[in-house]
Amino acid sequence: MTEQAERASPTAAAPPRGLICPRCACADLRVLNTRYAPGRIVRYRQCRHCGRRVTTYEVTPATLAKPGI
Ligand SMILES: [Zn+2]
Repeated sequence: MTEQAERASPTAAAPPRGLICPRCACADLRVLNTRYAPGRIVRYRQCRHCGRRVTTYEVTPATLAKPGI
């Protein structure tokens, strides 16, 4: 019996966590502006490396369940 199962390490091929830049794939996006709306938060972010702007929306599960958002 060998210990082959130990090779499946969770850190070996872990995908990047969080937001990554769609242009240069770096994870260094700073927040330019934040807008608070009922049920959601809108953040405008910009990549530190290539300057690509990304808009993100943070919503609660209750907001996601509503149609038409
Ligand atoms: Zn970038």
